[in-house]
Amino acid sequence: MNEEQNKLEERDRAVEEIARRLGVQAERGKRFAELTSLRVGGAIDWVIVPETEEQAAAIVHELDQAGIGWRPLGSGSNVLADDGDHHYVVLNLSNMKGEVRIEGELVSVSAGYSLPRLCIDVWRGGLSGIEGLGGIPGTVGGALWMNAGAYDHEIGTVTENVRVAREGKVVEIPGDSIEWNYRHASFKEGELLLGATLRLKQDDPELIKARMDDAKSRRLASQPHGSRSAGCFFKNPPASTIGTGKMIDEMGMKGQRRGSAIVSPVHANFIVTEGENARAEDALALAEEIRERVKREQGIELEYEVELWRAKPEPQMNADEQTQMDTDQKQEQ
Ligand SMILES: Cc1cc2nc3c(=O)[nH]c(=O)nc-3n(C[C@H](O)[C@H](O)[C@H](O)COP(=O)(O)OP(=O)(O)OC[C@H]3O[C@@H](n4cnc5c(N)ncnc54)[C@H](O)[C@@H]3O)c2cc1C
Repeated sequence: MNEEQNKLEERDRAVEEIARRLGVQAERGKRFAELTSLRVGGAIDWVIVPETEEQAAAIVHELDQAGIGWRPLGSGSNVLADDGDHHYVVLNLSNMKGEVRIEGELVSVSAGYSLPRLCIDVWRGGLSGIEGLGGIPGTVGGALWMNAGAYDHEIGTVTENVRVAREGKVVEIPGDSIEWNYRHASFKEGELLLGATLRLKQDDPELIKARMDDAKSRRLASQPHGSRSAGCFFKNPPASTIGTGKMIDEMGMKGQRRGSAIVSPVHANFIVTEGENARAEDALALAEEIRERVKREQGIELEYEVELWRAKPEPQMNADEQTQMDTDQKQEQ
């Protein structure tokens, strides 16, 4: 048995022991294809499924202490994991739902709670501020991490405070200590979000419902539904007057296919996957083809909105290789 296998076995024993001691479910044999909305992606060594904020805080502390790598996952609606074997622990937070607590205009919710569900709860409670987000799949934690937004609403603008895991404990940090940018919030790398309190505004439930329905019907009219996607694949470039979807559409790429991945014929910034054995490799190749064409034809470097999770870190280029690549690219233009 080689050294790497020895280390993995030692780690496996440690994961089992931590999960048993903290009374948390730990699963083997899962694949990202089962846990992400694109339905692609390879094997995961361990999936740990905490049910409470306290459990989740304790687990990541123990994993950190043992030097075991982990990543948090909500509903997997914004993640493209590659087809390789992922040798880390995935903390699946979608069971950490807790209960929504409403006190006046403050709404406290755990990170694993469904965002669409929360939008319905607060509409019924006559609270406005997130009705534009009603059609965004995923958990509250994923939405906070990405600063999810749609139809004039962004979660960051209504976040009073966020509960995070620190040293095994649940700690509250003020929402205004975070920079909430376009599809990005300034949380520290490796920060685990456990829950949040939102500050909403009282309004007539009928008006809130009407705005929520309007956002939903605009979404239905412009985006594929019932398909396997991760929402918009790329961000809109800051300096461009047209959105990325329109840009890709104007290049005639709607319906373009790479194996099991297709540029959605409905919305060109959506890549959808098809088939039982769809491959992340196909979605990535198609995405890179789009980026190359946009770079060549529009001179714009598209930035991924979807998170790419690699089984192995990408090899770093040294300075000479980078210079050579830049020279080659200039010559091609
Ligand atoms: C059909 C469709 C439409 C979409 N429309 C929109 C839209 O209009 N606007 C929009 O903003 N997004 C949209 N999305 C993208 C996605 O739904 C959002 O980004 C959503 O908020 C992600 O939530 P999630 O739980 O699925 O996160 P995941 O995909 O599971 O995770 C996303 C990122 O958040 C991190 N994360 C998740 N939970 C935690 C946590 N508790 N602590 C720390 N990090 C965490 C993950 O590590 C990962 O980096 C769409 C997706 C689909 C499939």
